Amino acid sequence: MRKLRIAGNWKMNHAAAATVDFCRDLRSRGLKGRRVDILLFPSFTSIPVMLPLLQGTAVQVGGQNLHQEIKGAYTGEISAAMLKEASCTHVLIGHSERRQYFNETNAGVNAKARVALEHGLTPIICIGETREEREGGVMENIIETQLRGALEGFEADKISKLMIAYEPVWAIGTGLTASPEQAQEVHAYIRKLLVKIAGKDVADRLPILYGGSAKPDNAAQLLSEVDIDGLLIGGASLKVDDFFSIIEIADTINK
Ligand code: PEP
Repeated sequence: MRKLRIAGNWKMNHAAAATVDFCRDLRSRGLKGRRVDILLFPSFTSIPVMLPLLQGTAVQVGGQNLHQEIKGAYTGEISAAMLKEASCTHVLIGHSERRQYFNETNAGVNAKARVALEHGLTPIICIGETREEREGGVMENIIETQLRGALEGFEADKISKLMIAYEPVWAIGTGLTASPEQAQEVHAYIRKLLVKIAGKDVADRLPILYGGSAKPDNAAQLLSEVDIDGLLIGGASLKVDDFFSIIEIADTINK
């Protein structure tokens, strides 16, 4: 059985004061004894603000990006060791906004995942098709290329230490959500590919999260699908009411 994960990607939102308010409010609602894993990806400057406020809860904190080199002259970048030192446990890699605005490639995603794993961080590798690709009938090719590119050269035991997030680009921040059936279809396809790439044992255990306008209204249906193992949430993770509702909904799902 795969545990559910509820992850919030804050993107470039919530500076220190808003982070403090969010964490105090979230904590006051009750985070102990949850069945789901809770992950938050704040901005880099909010990581040290967040950690003491959520200490002793089950919430884990991650970075939204990292650089593939260990150190050096890469102005504006952050390394895996820096995230680890800041007590991050996870890191998002290959988010569609990174691919779109910062020219991230599948090879770059592969290099970043490698360095993250070498430093004991759990990479959450984001993949997903655009609307044009879906409508043009090449969705499966895109998903396969992104997945194989991200995992190229990794042994099965390495792959078993990461997670995948399926995030259809057309559903991110648009209010358009993939229907539970549409999302399940792609998740099942990803798991089928993972069987070929890493073997059935690893594929059966690997968490595949869905992201794309997930919110309290659609969380239960999405999470009830057999191959959807959690949600990566952007907009709805910025409001404690919405994020906490989704955690509570996830806690009730039995599958
Ligand atoms: C995201 O950015 O990972 C995301 C899923 O955003 P939203 O929930 O706002 O669509």
